[in-house]
Amino acid sequence: MAYSLAGKVAVVTGAGAGIGRATSLAFARDGARVVVSDIDRGGGEETVRLIVDAGGEAHFVAADTSNAGQIASLIDDTVARYGRLDYACNNAGIGGLQAPTADYPEEEWRRVLDINLTGVWLCMKYEIPRMLANGGGAIVNMSSILGTVGFANSVAYVTAKHGLIGMTQTAALEYATQGLRVNAVCPGFIVTPMLEHAGLLSNPELHQMLINLHPIKRLGTPEEVAEAVVWLCSDAASFVTGHALLVDGGYVAQ
Ligand code: NAP
Repeated sequence: MAYSLAGKVAVVTGAGAGIGRATSLAFARDGARVVVSDIDRGGGEETVRLIVDAGGEAHFVAADTSNAGQIASLIDDTVARYGRLDYACNNAGIGGLQAPTADYPEEEWRRVLDINLTGVWLCMKYEIPRMLANGGGAIVNMSSILGTVGFANSVAYVTAKHGLIGMTQTAALEYATQGLRVNAVCPGFIVTPMLEHAGLLSNPELHQMLINLHPIKRLGTPEEVAEAVVWLCSDAASFVTGHALLVDGGYVAQ
C-alpha cells in the first residue's frame, strides 16, 4: 500500500536492521524524507543506501536512544537538515537476558528498561515540541505482543513493552487536540536479526515452536510491521490515536 507522504519528514530509531529498516524503506517509498538512526553505524548507513538506491531521500544520524543528549541532538539535526519533523517511529529495542523474575540480574533489568522504556520516552520528549511547532504529526512506539500478555523469563522486556502502551495512551490524551496522534504497534514474532542473534531461527525445533505460537502458522516479516507503522502515521489513520495495534498473526487472540 502506498500513502502520500511527500514533503514530510520521518525519524526512525533502531533503523539499521529489522523492523526499523523496513519502516524506513516504507516511509521513503511513500515520499517522506527519512532520518535513519541507530547505535550501529554500518547498519544505519546500509539502510540509507537502500533508500537512496530505490530513489528516496535519507540521512543517517548515530544515536543511542538511552542517552538523552544523543536523542536531543538527533532531533535537532533532523530539523536543522530538513526544516521540520512530522513522523517518528520509536522502534529501537533489545531483547535482554532470559531468566526467571527472582533470578533476573538487576543490572540487566536497568539496561533493558533504559533502552526499551526510558529511551522511547526520551524520544517523545524531544520529538513532541518539534511536531507541535509544525501543527502536529504522528508518533508510533514499537511495543510487542509482550506489551499485552506475559512471557516467562522475560520480565524486563515484558514490563518495558507494557509500559510503552501506557506511555502511548497518556501522550495521545495530552496532545489529541493539537494535531498530534500517538499510537503503538504490537508485533508478534518477526524474522529479524533480533531473533537470529537470540538463536531462535537457527534451531529448527525452537523455530517451529515459535511458528506454532501464531494461529496463522508462520512468523511475521518486518515489512508487515512497517505497513502498520506507515498507515498509523498517514492521513488514512486520521481518527486513530492512543491505539495499540496488534500485528501478530492472531497470537493474542487465543
Ligand atoms: P533488531 O533486528 O535487533 O534491530 C534493532 C536495531 O536497533 C539494531 O540495529 C540495533 O543495533 C539497534 N539498537 C539496539 N539498541 C539501540 C539503542 N540503544 N539505540 C539505538 N539503536 C539501538 O530488532 P527488531 O527485531 O527489528 O526489533 C525492533 C523493535 O521491535 C524492538 O523494539 C523490538 O523489541 C520490537 N519487536 C520485535 C519483535 C521481533 O520478533 N523481532 C517482536 C515484537 C517487537 P545492534 O544490532 O547494534 O544492537
